[in-house]
Amino acid sequence: MFANSHLASYAAHSLTSRGRRFSEPKANSRTDYQRDRDRIIHSSAFRRLEYKTQVFVNHEGDLFRTRLTHSLEVAQLARSIARNLHLNEDLVEAISLAHDLGHTPFGHAGQDALNACMKEFDGFEHNLQSLRVVDTLEERYGLFDGLNLTFETREGILKHCSLTHALTLGDVGRRFIEKSQPTLEAQLTNLADEIAYNNHDIDDGLRSGLLVEERLLELDFYAHAHREVIDTYPGINGRRAISETIRRMINRLVSDLIQTSEQRIAEFAPTSVDEVRAMGPMIAFSEAMQQEATVLKQFLRENLYRHYLVNRMTSKAKTVVRQLFEIFSAEPALLPPDYQIMNMGIGDAAKALQARKIADYIAGMTDRYAIREHCRLFSIEEF
Ligand code: MG
Repeated sequence: MFANSHLASYAAHSLTSRGRRFSEPKANSRTDYQRDRDRIIHSSAFRRLEYKTQVFVNHEGDLFRTRLTHSLEVAQLARSIARNLHLNEDLVEAISLAHDLGHTPFGHAGQDALNACMKEFDGFEHNLQSLRVVDTLEERYGLFDGLNLTFETREGILKHCSLTHALTLGDVGRRFIEKSQPTLEAQLTNLADEIAYNNHDIDDGLRSGLLVEERLLELDFYAHAHREVIDTYPGINGRRAISETIRRMINRLVSDLIQTSEQRIAEFAPTSVDEVRAMGPMIAFSEAMQQEATVLKQFLRENLYRHYLVNRMTSKAKTVVRQLFEIFSAEPALLPPDYQIMNMGIGDAAKALQARKIADYIAGMTDRYAIREHCRLFSIEEF
């Protein structure tokens, strides 16, 4: 009943999924990947994405992207690319919506600070944390911890992973050891993520005033799209011109990705997911487009992510995360009871377990919750 006849033979078919960690009866009205997506949408980690920073801290403005709107944009792009390539739209949607669930408050600043705090306890990495959220931390079902998602969704969530961590992750870590590929759906979602953030960060950067269009016009990629807009709509300006420019950039990236991937798929000619796994990466930009994307990324790094006003926020965010970690480590009794390791003694294992619980607690916070918690613990007027 759910045989997806429009799917290519090399797509991930839910009927041949490697399955869930805990076996469950099939749902009778949804495929396994639809069910994964639905579980993700109902999770509490997903709701928290609304109040987590993408680049701009949540309270800086109502119009900037948050992790939630970013994830929705990734899902939209991934679905439309998947449809063109006859890949599984439900799977790319599930991976997209879950890919950032493990992000700390305050974006990369929060992750870097938490990683530094966790240095002697195996570190902190948001990809691994996203997997940990769906495998362990969500508490919604009677039979198991986590959301019990299919192998293919979990594999897609784990975009990168160090060899040391891969060795501890079982089946989902194996590809990093064997250097094999994930499904085309996972490869695709990874690049849809890149298209989404490069473009929406330009949009948000311009809206915030931290990026100025004169500088962007020095980039061929932006200038080319901008020229097209001016030629099509003489006299157009302001937000409308920016939106028209950005949608053209997105279109160029997406079209290039579809075309190049089609060619690569035709060259490799896989006939099943197993063959896809054993071959080279097939979802890719052309070399020329990859170069343009790299220049764009570099521009954003220099002009937006390292803008002095962003640096100030980054510095403050790191302080909040570091101080929360330090006070909870020094006094675990300040933690909510669920996060305290009781009766475990004071050995190294107990210390590591407690540190991991603190990292889980902090990583799960939204920006505003972290700020409030910091006030409650450090401001003498707050109780
Ligand atoms: Mg992302």
